[in-house]
Amino acid sequence: MKQLFILFLFCVLSSGGYAQSYRERREAMVSRQIEARGITHQPTLEAMRKVERHLFVPSGYREDAYRDTPLPIGRGQTISQPYMVALMTSLLAPQGDDRILEIGTGSGYQAAVLAEIVREVYTIEIVPELGESARETLAGLGYHQVTVVVGDGYRGLPEKAPFDGIIVTAAPETIPPPLLAQLKEGGRMVIPVGPPGAVQSLLLIEKKNGKIRKTRKEHVRFVPFTRSAD
Ligand code: SAH
Repeated sequence: MKQLFILFLFCVLSSGGYAQSYRERREAMVSRQIEARGITHQPTLEAMRKVERHLFVPSGYREDAYRDTPLPIGRGQTISQPYMVALMTSLLAPQGDDRILEIGTGSGYQAAVLAEIVREVYTIEIVPELGESARETLAGLGYHQVTVVVGDGYRGLPEKAPFDGIIVTAAPETIPPPLLAQLKEGGRMVIPVGPPGAVQSLLLIEKKNGKIRKTRKEHVRFVPFTRSAD
């Protein structure tokens, strides 16, 4: 009997020992999902090793947080697949002193990844409940360099413009002109463009000598870019 109990105790303790910590899962996520697909931008890789993605998903999805997939965050919206966050961040190529604008706060995860790299992040969310919840999560984790604004991101944030980089995480059918206008000379924008519910193109947009250069990167699938009624 005593031997059985010891065996039982051993099984319980060792199975606990085998469960991967969140940190280990994050490491595995970066090497198997992100580096393995060719992303080499070091600041992006470092940021994604740091940000605790499991704290940005609803509690019922914590165990799935480091899987190779988007996850529901409520209100019909999703937190993007880790690879997509890494790809978009590396295309934006943010640098320490940059001021970045994100449209589509969602969970706040992408904003946190950017905040690990740059000085100031502004992020706009159209669904008030999501914006407020992301604001709380980010403040709770000490991301004070992120400002969450609830509103329609189509208009951008003229009072804080121009931005070194703009990243859009919902897909409009065409590039919103106010966002182009708020991009700094030499700045970069990463944006999925295309019809709602279909495959869209991820575009890298560069503003050089007042001219706009667009490069098509990958086929992607994002939630639609919505507009407020006013
Ligand atoms: N970057 C997010 C992913 C969010 S999904 C993350 O890391 O979790 C896209 C988000 O864009 C959704 O929350 C959606 O509500 C928001 N959105 C859609 N249209 C918008 C608009 N016009 N302005 C601001 N946010 C918008």
